[in-house]
Amino acid sequence: MSVSDIDLVNAWKQVLSLSKMQPGQTVTILTGADTHPQTLRCAITAASDMGARLNRLDLPPVNAEKSLSRDSLAYLGVTPLTGNNAAIAALKESDLVLDLMTLLFSPEQHDILKTGTKILLAIEPPEVLCRLVPTEADRLRVQAAAKRISAAKQMRITSAAGTDLLCQLGEFPAISEYGFVDEPGRWDHWPSGFVLTWPNEGQSQGRIILDRGDILLPMKDYVSEPIELLVKDGFVTSIQGGLQADLLKEYMASYEDPQAYAVSHIGWGLQPRAHWSMLAHYNKETHIGMDARAFEGNFLWSMGPNNEAGGSRTTACHIDIPMRNCSVAIDAEYTVIDGVVQDDFGLAQASRRKKFL
Ligand code: FE
Repeated sequence: MSVSDIDLVNAWKQVLSLSKMQPGQTVTILTGADTHPQTLRCAITAASDMGARLNRLDLPPVNAEKSLSRDSLAYLGVTPLTGNNAAIAALKESDLVLDLMTLLFSPEQHDILKTGTKILLAIEPPEVLCRLVPTEADRLRVQAAAKRISAAKQMRITSAAGTDLLCQLGEFPAISEYGFVDEPGRWDHWPSGFVLTWPNEGQSQGRIILDRGDILLPMKDYVSEPIELLVKDGFVTSIQGGLQADLLKEYMASYEDPQAYAVSHIGWGLQPRAHWSMLAHYNKETHIGMDARAFEGNFLWSMGPNNEAGGSRTTACHIDIPMRNCSVAIDAEYTVIDGVVQDDFGLAQASRRKKFL
């Protein structure tokens, strides 16, 4: 179902209000070849109506020889901003950048954020943006979860399918992704609703069993038969299974980078308006899979860089893997049990679901 311009304008206004955009502030909309025209049109209308001084910066794609798919998260590092000092200067001078292009994981993004500029990424289709327009309640829930990670020494993830992964924590911060940018220098992504951190360098050990229905991104595939990944000293050292395991191995090998196999961010989904089942409804090239990353009670882990958190690892390859039915323990306390978030909101959702089944 499509959404009307007025609904998307109102969604933008909610996001801009939550992001504390003030009349007279400079808002720069960063666009690229894949920017959705309705998202752009409605962002311009909303920000203009709220009194922003508005710029649009359109940058052509780069790196054509490296392109493996149209997914904007499938190749990280070099962006159209790399070495583009004029464009970087314009973004640094802006109060707020609406990134409809995808700067994620680029060093330029860090430089811009350091000046106090806020950056909000928004590249999902308009109807996903409208359904997952963030709220203040999203922020409170995600930040409460981040607080539980902040003081923790370890995260242990288990599942009936056979996953048992132990990650030591403390070197990297807990990151709250709730979908708006209410602090100077903050980056966020609309839509979101999850919490994450990175394990200490070289300190993840165990076994991950991807079960039927778990999700591989950026492939945007549901796992149809189990895949076993062994983790030793922070790196995935073995990937075994059927066809999907072979496809994953070949895809990762194509980057020719051992750093691609490092365990990257780990965390869990807290967004009840995001749905595990949504991936099945979309053409793969029309979205990046944020429903999968955010649905409530997932365990979302990844392989790839940790420079986003202040670590030194950069790699162009990044695999996000949202899993169902996992239990996540922070030190001795469960935050997710069998895919149900152990906070008041998650437990209420779980009991409501039972009545429908
Ligand atoms: Fe990721």
